Amino acid sequence: MKGRRMCGTVTAADDGSRVVVAGWVNHRRDHGGLTFIDLRDHTGVVQLVFNPALAPEAHELAERCRLEWVLRVEGPVGRRPEGSENPNLPTGSVEITVDACEVLGQAEAMPIGVSDEVAADERVRLQYRYLDLRRPRMQRNLRARHRFVKSLRDVADQLGFIEIETPTMIPSTPEGARDFIVPSRLWPGHVWALPQSPQIYKQLCMVGGCDRYFQIARCWRDEDLRADRQFEFTQLDMEMSFVDEDEIFLVLEEMISKAFGEAFQIPVSTPWPRLPFSEAMRRFGSDKPDTRFDMELEDVSDIFRDSSFRVFKGALEEGGSVQALRVPGGAELTRGELEGEWLQVARTYGAAGLAYMWRRSGSFEGAITKFLSAEEQAALAGRLGVEDGDCVCFTAGRTAVARTSLGAVRLHAARRFDWIPKGRFDFLWITEFPLFEQDPVTGRVGSVHHPFTQPHPDDWELVRTDPIAVRSRSYDIVCNGVELGSGSLRITNPAQQAAIFEALGLSAEEAERKFGFLMSAFRYGPPPHGGFAAGIDRMVMLGVGETTIREVIAFPKTQSGGDPMTGSPTPVAVEQLTEVGLRLAPTLRPEPAVAPTGGGE
Ligand code: ASP
Repeated sequence: MKGRRMCGTVTAADDGSRVVVAGWVNHRRDHGGLTFIDLRDHTGVVQLVFNPALAPEAHELAERCRLEWVLRVEGPVGRRPEGSENPNLPTGSVEITVDACEVLGQAEAMPIGVSDEVAADERVRLQYRYLDLRRPRMQRNLRARHRFVKSLRDVADQLGFIEIETPTMIPSTPEGARDFIVPSRLWPGHVWALPQSPQIYKQLCMVGGCDRYFQIARCWRDEDLRADRQFEFTQLDMEMSFVDEDEIFLVLEEMISKAFGEAFQIPVSTPWPRLPFSEAMRRFGSDKPDTRFDMELEDVSDIFRDSSFRVFKGALEEGGSVQALRVPGGAELTRGELEGEWLQVARTYGAAGLAYMWRRSGSFEGAITKFLSAEEQAALAGRLGVEDGDCVCFTAGRTAVARTSLGAVRLHAARRFDWIPKGRFDFLWITEFPLFEQDPVTGRVGSVHHPFTQPHPDDWELVRTDPIAVRSRSYDIVCNGVELGSGSLRITNPAQQAAIFEALGLSAEEAERKFGFLMSAFRYGPPPHGGFAAGIDRMVMLGVGETTIREVIAFPKTQSGGDPMTGSPTPVAVEQLTEVGLRLAPTLRPEPAVAPTGGGE
């Protein structure tokens, strides 16, 4: 639109000049024979005045128009009368006296409000997402996201990376989640998978001499949705040749810190601390520790080695441990709270129970106190630095479970006692994750990261003898208790890769069928390489201060995995299935997962 100014940019500097603005009717009121409209675009609102004596046609139009109509107006900018200024708006000292007005679009009664205060149900917001996107908060989030991604691209370019698009119809990727599959028409009974990540292709780019690859890559994983998980999400995906961990860390620290600064005005200092996985689990009971507050776990097994307290003793006899957490100020917690909410948190992570003691007037109180000797109590108080007014919580049992469940209690305590400082961003690297994990039910060994991850050089021997003890050359970025991404150095030696496949229980034939093309590529001069993938949605969520990634994705799915706006997923037509050689099993529900809803009723 010729000469159009953005609404939010009309200020006192424009006093006396003519402007053209266009946007949505945010608010309308009549006062003293005049009609006032706040016109909005994504930059803000500007006040329009319609005076019947000066411009009768425009005034008549203004009287007719309703909320969210789209207008183009023209007129001189003038100071608002004294006393009617709004110091909270950049445009608050001026108004446009409209002498020409055109309606560009009409709106029916709005199904949802578009101001930030509106608290519509999320399902309704997503049903009318195109209206929800008009809200200043959504506009701010999407624009911050754009700046963030742009900044990542700029820095990647400066660092010598090139963006390469990898295919989105591929064979299955071994990232450990369920694939979304696309049936093939030309090959009935065969499927493509949507990539869980561009992992294999980016490694092939390295074999292809591309050296420094990156991609703002869409990935798909068929998992249950959560606040920070969607079926499809976007990763900053990277791979580099001839690097070690230090070089990879340097690149990511530079990219992410610069992009956080440019997009969110959040200063992120570097380098980031590095914490081996085993230490993170020991100190925080989590592989994504929130390090904005201390309150670390203590292994107090040695204190209770000869305890007469059955619960502790039993755990230790079975090779487990006793973990303790000092909760400053916790003496105010009631028994109901500790045995209700707090116990529930511990149980969610597998703990059988949560023991606790209060500290008042120099001694411990609580049901378990009578089972603990004076020496044990004194040793505990000394080790944890217990003071009057504290509470000590314990978990006992298999060490991994005792730690993760008390780690969850630690986070719960932090929220309950408001220990988490606002406006702080604690980035860190978690390193040396285990290479393998064992499914507790099937006993099967699987990769913690993916099967192309290098074992720690000191642990190669253990791959055959004690795979669960093998550390890997993999690493995660964690910030404020959120895992933002992970990566690793890769195996490029076919014999070593074969050993890993074997440890994973993959027969040579199966490995050949699934990954033969990669193994074959590695026979022709693979450079050593490694990489990383970081979740764009999660990083933007943190950067703009949201608590779910749905607030930073233009068109997300609901938590139950549907799209109420388009009414999808939709039932499939028999002809469509026949074309790709498929037939629905009779047990399948013919109903769509989400009832279709008309867009604008
Ligand atoms: N492909 C991995 C992931 O998506 C990241 C990597 O190893 O580079 O988690």
